[in-house]
Amino acid sequence: MPTYAYRCRECTESFELTRPMSESGDPAVCPGGHRDTVKLLTTVALTGKAAGAAAAPSAPSGGGCCGGGCCG
Ligand SMILES: [Zn+2]
Repeated sequence: MPTYAYRCRECTESFELTRPMSESGDPAVCPGGHRDTVKLLTTVALTGKAAGAAAAPSAPSGGGCCGGGCCG
């Protein structure tokens, strides 16, 4: 069910309602009980893949500097 955002013009409160699309045009009452509300842009909660996969830190294999005798 999509989530619709509304804004009350009396108390300027923004709130969201989850309701069927068929009722998206119905008047929404703000949490304060006001009826003078306007519908904002529809915000649909989509759960997508998070951008950027978690890259596991790859430790360089090998002994490091002092193993090769480069440290003196
Ligand atoms: Zn209100």
